[in-house]
Amino acid sequence: MPGMPDLYLLILAAILAVALLLHIGVSLYRQRLIRRYRRLLYEDDLTGLRKTTYLERYFHDILVSFDRDVSLYYVNIDNFKNYNDLFGHRIANELLKRAAARLHAVCKQHGHVYRVHSDRFLILNPTEEDQEEAFSRRLQHAFRDPVSINGHEIRLTVSVGRYDVADDQSRFYDVLLRSELASHEAKRRGKDRVARYSSELKHVSQDSFEMFQAIREAIEKQRFHLEFQPTVSWADGKMRGFEALIRIHDKHRLHFPQDIIGYAERYNMMEEIDRYVVERACKALAHMKSKGVPVDFLSINISSKEIHNPEFLSTIEAALKANGLEAGELIIEFTETNDPEGLEAEATFISNLRALGLKVAIDDFGTGYSSMVRLSRNVIDHIKVDQTFIRDIANNKTNQRLVTSMVKLAESFELSLVIEGVEKRADYEALSDLPIDYAQGYYFYKPLTMQKVIETFADETS
Ligand code: C2E
Ligand code: MG
Ligand code: MG
Repeated sequence: MPGMPDLYLLILAAILAVALLLHIGVSLYRQRLIRRYRRLLYEDDLTGLRKTTYLERYFHDILVSFDRDVSLYYVNIDNFKNYNDLFGHRIANELLKRAAARLHAVCKQHGHVYRVHSDRFLILNPTEEDQEEAFSRRLQHAFRDPVSINGHEIRLTVSVGRYDVADDQSRFYDVLLRSELASHEAKRRGKDRVARYSSELKHVSQDSFEMFQAIREAIEKQRFHLEFQPTVSWADGKMRGFEALIRIHDKHRLHFPQDIIGYAERYNMMEEIDRYVVERACKALAHMKSKGVPVDFLSINISSKEIHNPEFLSTIEAALKANGLEAGELIIEFTETNDPEGLEAEATFISNLRALGLKVAIDDFGTGYSSMVRLSRNVIDHIKVDQTFIRDIANNKTNQRLVTSMVKLAESFELSLVIEGVEKRADYEALSDLPIDYAQGYYFYKPLTMQKVIETFADETS
């Protein structure tokens, strides 16, 4: 039939055109997704600056691209917490934006600016521009004029640590640590100044660096482990649940949270640690139950940084599901912070946790800046009275009165109350008449390894 081949060709061409359009559409969509993902990963929402994660990822390429020696400046706004307290977080956020813009302006010729977190920034700039501290002075001067926001005139100052990156093979965290140490030195010398990293700071650096490395390696090689401290019912002293507590076993020794958490927070490693703890703890709880340990709940400590981490909820959901657990078996413990900036976000976060069915506890209750604000704003399940109130309470009338008041407070808010740090029989007896729900402390049990948990509590018939 005449004309048929033409028709086939036409159909074929049409199919090819549709396929091509589809291909273009999909690859455009993919590119958009990748761009969005990169923005989330590398761009700071508040200031529009790149995050340190970007610098970490491309550190060596960036150093090489300068094609000359580079200095790293760790910029820390002085007294930022006070501005937060005085003016509230909206104005404090605006201050951070303005500070970021000023830093950006100082660097517009050659430098790069990154936001580490909160009031901390990093700058990379050619070392030769800082002959006779010319660049350092420009940094200081950038803050000379007050920032004017909502009728407030606020004069910011910054403490800056400078580290001259000796060669482009230097490791990112090594360099970061040295510049940060120098910024601490600038603060120590009275703030509003630039301090250079010097060999005197080296010994501090060595210790810090070793700890930093231990944490990094623990994350990478899964060298963390958890211990479990029994929580007992006050009425009969029987174990009802556990609190998971983190430790690191490195080559030399066992590290406890007091060594770990501070560093991990400073170097933005808490999200990884918390994720690890959630996954491990859920697995541990499932294991205890499979061995017949009569456990009602497991408490997990998390960093208050998770409040701003949208992925945290799904991490918990996935860990619960993977181990066949009910949300109500987990208690999430927050430590009270002194950060009023986070109160609103915290309330949302807590209600999201509770919407999933999880229980929430305020840890170290009574030591934070805003205990009462937290009670009035958040629907929580438990308060854990800080151990400083409990230690030696048999000989401390003031603390006896304080704890009695906290028990009444918990009753009137219908919260359960846990006391921590019961070490001696005398302390237990001093409190024994109070209607407390749960307790933890060396008097009952120390933190135990999983093996000990099973030995002590497992039902042999399971
Ligand atoms: P916390 O949540 O208040 O945990 C209680 C701490 O008190 C634990 O110390 C526990 O070993 C200790 N303790 C319990 N009973 C007694 C007692 O009778 N006397 C004395 N002197 N101490 C007692 P640990 O394990 O060193 O943990 C310290 C803090 O580190 C925890 O305080 C918690 O805020 C944080 N932490 C622990 N594990 C994790 C974790 O996995 N993730 C996060 N984000 N933080 C954690
Ligand atoms: Mg705790
Ligand atoms: Mg506590």
